[in-house]
Amino acid sequence: PSPLGPTPKLVIDLERLAQLPKDKAGALARYAATIQSQRGDYNGKVLSIRQEDLRSLAVIYDKSPTELTEELITWGVLDAEARRAVESF
Ligand code: C2E
Ligand code: C2E
Ligand code: C2E
Repeated sequence: PSPLGPTPKLVIDLERLAQLPKDKAGALARYAATIQSQRGDYNGKVLSIRQEDLRSLAVIYDKSPTELTEELITWGVLDAEARRAVESF
């Protein structure tokens, strides 16, 4: 096991996401809205997503999962802890 503890979750900051320009964040916002709809989870400030979904999003954004994670950290949508969640990819 990792000395830093269990693999952290990928937690999307939905309030930050809503503030970002649509040309950058539109695809992610639509993806997150679809997951919220599938779960019936509409009241959260954050949304925990599957590691598999980050892989899919990386394809959509034409980046590697690591590159997309760095971008989402820069935007303030993911916490820096998310780096450890994609190390296992
Ligand atoms: P499903 O994948 O067949 O999952 C059925 C139910 O199992 C989910 O109902 C949820 O209660 C539970 N479940 C499955 N995987 C996890 C997990 O990793 N963590 C937790 N806490 N629970 C889990 P729910 O949430 O109502 O979702 C209904 C369906 O919506 C899911 O069926 C799946 O097809 C889709 N879905 C929901 N959230 C996601 C997501 O984050 N990513 C993807 N790709 N699909 C999702
Ligand atoms: P946590 O995973 O650290 O989540 C902390 C809080 O962030 C949650 O408090 C909730 O307010 C928010 N949060 C995180 N992910 C989501 C999300 O996808 N949707 C929404 N609407 N809110 C989210 P909460 O609900 O009181 O849960 C406290 C703790 O209970 C969680 O800490 C987690 O350890 C556990 N927990 C709650 N639901 C689940 C679950 O579906 N699966 C698992 N494995 N643990 C859960
Ligand atoms: P979590 O609920 O703490 O689940 C952590 C990991 O346990 C998941 O990572 C997945 O690998 C495994 N897991 C938990 N429940 C199930 C299940 O019913 N079926 C399967 N096949 N695996 C399960 P993952 O997939 O990266 O998901 C990360 C977090 O995203 C979950 O943490 C949960 O907070 C959220 N999540 C993912 N899928 C769903 C879903 O369908 N519904 C809901 N409500 N939350 C989900």
